Amino acid sequence: MTRPYNFSAGPAAMPEAVLRTAAAEMLDWHGSGMGVMEMSHRGKEFGAIYAQAEADLRELLAVPTHFKILFMQGGGLAENAIVPLNLSRGGAVDFVLTGSWSQKSAKEAQRYCQAHVAASAQDSHFTTLPDPATWQLRRDASYVHLCSNETIHGVEFHSLPELKALGSDAPLVIDFSSHVLSRPVDWSRVGLAFGGAQKNVGPAGVTLVVVREDLLGHALPACPSAFDYKTVADNGSMYNTPPTYAIYMAGLTFQWLKAQGGVVAMERRNVAKAELLYGFLDASSFYVNKVDKTCRSRMNVPFFLRDESRNEAFLTGAKARGLLQLKGHKSVGGMRASIYNAMPIEGVQALVDYLRDFEKEQA
Ligand code: PMP
Repeated sequence: MTRPYNFSAGPAAMPEAVLRTAAAEMLDWHGSGMGVMEMSHRGKEFGAIYAQAEADLRELLAVPTHFKILFMQGGGLAENAIVPLNLSRGGAVDFVLTGSWSQKSAKEAQRYCQAHVAASAQDSHFTTLPDPATWQLRRDASYVHLCSNETIHGVEFHSLPELKALGSDAPLVIDFSSHVLSRPVDWSRVGLAFGGAQKNVGPAGVTLVVVREDLLGHALPACPSAFDYKTVADNGSMYNTPPTYAIYMAGLTFQWLKAQGGVVAMERRNVAKAELLYGFLDASSFYVNKVDKTCRSRMNVPFFLRDESRNEAFLTGAKARGLLQLKGHKSVGGMRASIYNAMPIEGVQALVDYLRDFEKEQA
């Protein structure tokens, strides 16, 4: 039996092999007599699951040894508060606004620091990225924040800016929630990266934080202990009970990614998938993607039917063909196909076949 192709932006489709392993291990993990949900986070069984997950993530993303990997809770939105609580020292922070998620980050940060808009693509309705050469970076900023893949607007940084070359000594913070593990990360340009798991990694409930060691230990006094990166790091992400099952599922995904050839192999596949879908959309006069070609997301492809009165018929027909959750985000409308690591190229081909058939049928 083949499952439908699920284009949800998140929580999103998981690799089928991962779900099958989890199902097989649900009642008894590796002969322990316990399911993973039932294990103490301080026992040797979960300790082994945790250590493997952390080591695999470090290997997959080539995280240097002077960075800590933390498994936290609260999702991307909690990080919008946790990052300034830990890194801002109450001073100035630069934000680059490229869509809904970076806008939300700047708004939340205002509660804890002086959030300054260094650049914004709002004038283009978030269909472009502001050229780094035009960013108004402050000398006194404690960090610069950007969202490296805007899940709603479908805009992605294909390379990260080198802040030093732009005259800033501040560390770069990236929200990589919706493209983590879809491509390598240049850690020489990053001070901290965070991302919720529920798109490319596993179930909702665990948040990945990768942070350079020298940025630890500067939390504001008001920072909750459970969200102080240093406290979390010093306790191996077990200061309080971590989201054990979500970490286990993320770990299974890491194993699956390694078996697929790792992040470089995934990037090749993601490029091919994106080219297939954007190529079709660009050649069509029935559908349109409005994002500038230089910064289109490989993960989230928003598109519109030129005649929006056909939207309901499009979605109903898609569902009947086993193509699920294609409705666009309510703030932009239209459609959105999220094609994360777990989406095989066959799923993108099935979508393109449907797009073509629907257009013909409506002609
Ligand atoms: N950042 C980005 C880029 C996202 O896509 C999302 C969720 N869609 C968030 C932050 C918010 O994450 P959460 O709902 O886990 O708090």
